[in-house]
Amino acid sequence: MDWATLARPEIFRIQPYSPGKPIAEVERELGLRDVIKLASNENPLGPSPRAVAALAQAISSVHFYPESRPPLLRRRLAELNGVSPDQVIVGNGSDELIKLLAETFLRPGDEVLLPAPTFSEYEFAAHLMGARPVSVPCRDFKPDWERMVQAVTERTRMIFLPSPNNPTGRALREEELISLLSGVPPAVLVVVDEAYREYAEDPLYHRDSPRLLTRFANLVLLRTFSKIYGLAGLRIGYGLADPAVIDLVYRVCEPFNVNALAQEAALAALDDEEHLAASRENNRRGKEYLEAELKALGLNPVPTEANFFFVGLGRDCREVFRALLQRGIIVRTGDIFGEPEYIRVTIGTPEQNRRLIQALAEVVGGGRR
Ligand SMILES: *Cc1c(COP(=O)(O)O)cnc(C)c1O
Repeated sequence: MDWATLARPEIFRIQPYSPGKPIAEVERELGLRDVIKLASNENPLGPSPRAVAALAQAISSVHFYPESRPPLLRRRLAELNGVSPDQVIVGNGSDELIKLLAETFLRPGDEVLLPAPTFSEYEFAAHLMGARPVSVPCRDFKPDWERMVQAVTERTRMIFLPSPNNPTGRALREEELISLLSGVPPAVLVVVDEAYREYAEDPLYHRDSPRLLTRFANLVLLRTFSKIYGLAGLRIGYGLADPAVIDLVYRVCEPFNVNALAQEAALAALDDEEHLAASRENNRRGKEYLEAELKALGLNPVPTEANFFFVGLGRDCREVFRALLQRGIIVRTGDIFGEPEYIRVTIGTPEQNRRLIQALAEVVGGGRR
């Protein structure tokens, strides 16, 4: 049986996701120890201790189904963002919310705008529904909101706008986001993915974006517990939007999409201001250190508002990737984002950052220091 002829033709446009290499795999393959992973923008300080304690508590209750459309968590997230609980949806990671938005709103032939380079999930979701992803090149690695507005046609149904963008780290300012929203027809959903918002330092960043939800009913904000909250392995994120949009997306959503452990850990992590502040501070210092050291090595880090750098190497990324791997450091290559002379490195602990710079000095800097 030729199963491929029976599968939906749309799925053959989907590029398989290329994940960061896991530490255990690299240690096994290369016979190394103390491998560090700076490839997936995880929190180098780990999860909040409060979340870990909540998980230990919750684990003996896993014979119960989790809450569906979790009321407590939605209320807490609503309070935190100054919206009402019916404006909140919780997902199995924000990845699930991207897919649910596509399943709810995209028809074959619809156009979906996204910046390039960017996170691969937007294109995946568009292809899954037979919609057409339309890439709009960034300007100096920043999503080019003006060109995105110009690229809207009658077929445009959705715009994905990650800010800060992954893999480039650059973010929009509030006035730019407002200009984009004002320039787009009200029937086009604008999905602003704020996965790295907690790291943004630009005082003009759209920090208070939930306020814009009352003015723009087509705005959807995506947030995650995978990055600064350190819960990537539990899979939990959330979305904020107009109640009518949330209601439609919940129709498509599985009743028990977010597991019970993730719900408890997320609630506890939200209360841990200390861990949040420490994570932010670690990132701020690491960013300062890495930017200076990368430049001193003659490399070209793109200015970032996130917890990673997109680094111009002036040479092919694959060799550098392999040489770093030999030295026990996993990073992400730019080729998967269409930028073969870049790597993306997550900002780590001070010790991890020093190891990265030391290794890069050996690989590209002719062994300086
Ligand atoms: C990491 C990341 C996410 C988070 O995805 P989860 O499914 O919540 O883990 C979302 N958007 C972007 C742009 C990211 O880089």
